[in-house]
Amino acid sequence: MKVLLEENGCIGCGLCAQICPYVFGMDENGFAIVHSKQVPSFAQMLARKAQSSCPVAVIHLYQFDKGDL
Ligand code: SF4
Repeated sequence: MKVLLEENGCIGCGLCAQICPYVFGMDENGFAIVHSKQVPSFAQMLARKAQSSCPVAVIHLYQFDKGDL
């Protein structure tokens, strides 16, 4: 699973970083960043929860077939 964050649309609520800190964090300006575009398998459930919790729906998750980068 990979994550794409539309950083320009983030309003800085902080929910994604609270829910799934393995994948999301906050930058020095208070907006979300992605630590790793590749979501570790153990964090996928929380990444989905972060995605569904984002109030402006700027978190996108993609499931790739084995072998895709
Ligand atoms: S949940 Fe959405 S709006 Fe809130 S910090 Fe994360 S990306 Fe930004």
